[in-house]
Amino acid sequence: MQDSPLHDGPGPDSEPQALQLPQVLVLGTGGTIAGVAPASSTATGAGYTAGVLGVEQLLAAAPGVQQHARLQLRQLCNIDSKDAGPDLWLQLAREVQAWRARPGVAGCVITHGSDTLEETAYALDCLLEPGEPVVLTAAMLPAAALSADGPRNLFDAVRVAADSSAAGRGVLCVAHGRVHAARDVGKERPARIDAFGSGERGPLGFIGASGLRFTRQPVGPQAVRVALPAAALQPAWPRVELVCSHAGADGALVRALLAASRAGMLQPPLQALVVLGTGGGTVHEQLQAALDEAQAAGVRVQVVPRTGPCEGGEFDGLNAVKVRVQLLLQGLALA
Ligand code: ASP
Repeated sequence: MQDSPLHDGPGPDSEPQALQLPQVLVLGTGGTIAGVAPASSTATGAGYTAGVLGVEQLLAAAPGVQQHARLQLRQLCNIDSKDAGPDLWLQLAREVQAWRARPGVAGCVITHGSDTLEETAYALDCLLEPGEPVVLTAAMLPAAALSADGPRNLFDAVRVAADSSAAGRGVLCVAHGRVHAARDVGKERPARIDAFGSGERGPLGFIGASGLRFTRQPVGPQAVRVALPAAALQPAWPRVELVCSHAGADGALVRALLAASRAGMLQPPLQALVVLGTGGGTVHEQLQAALDEAQAAGVRVQVVPRTGPCEGGEFDGLNAVKVRVQLLLQGLALA
């Protein structure tokens, strides 16, 4: 996809002033923030299609953003993030890395669907050194809906990416005036405009009329750093599946996966299982028997609470999908 040129800040009359503004790359990937509703329901946004508008159109709906940064825009893809795959993480990480290598750049914003934002954010946290701010943002209402939240979220995300006080804090998510850490953030309230939360830890800070304010430091272990593979190498992702313990969980699903994997019907074969356990991580005895068989066959089994993030240990603060992201990245082989 094509780069758009740098968009200078306050306008042609104030060129020298614009050149002093921080440089921010905005990468578009799709999502509701780029969504369009049918003409009959534009106001409510009902029945919209995610990932339609280009990043240039999204910025045009956020007037004033050029007062805060010189922008370079790049459309990487335009998808509903429910359909995202792990190759997108590598693509994004490479774009950010290349941007950071340029002299004098401030930060980077990624517009993304809200559904899997937490997975992409955490993957980037593992793939990128903490450095210039990398800020993901999203929206719960499509672009032209009444009170659409996308323009404000994008405006705020650019301000955070342009702010040097946001550097070195790992990958961030900005939505609804809050700044979240990639490790903590989740789509906690999918039917509400303030969909994102950071569980009991709460956001890292806030962005509003009075600017950016961080109220706490990131906690928990640093993201496990995974070296970003060279673009020329073909990534071979391992198979890491999620299963859930629940009333009547008899392990049939796990045995079916194992049998298919052994028979060569699952490509790639099963490498790990993330098990959403009841309570703090208990597992139905019948499911446990199947998991023991999986483990004996060389499959890594990682039990996490189905009620929220892990507490303590290697995966402290990570929910099940982020544990899966980490295992995927750690098992990434290259051809
Ligand atoms: N399904 C959409 C997506 O994740 C939802 C959103 O962006 O809010 O792309």
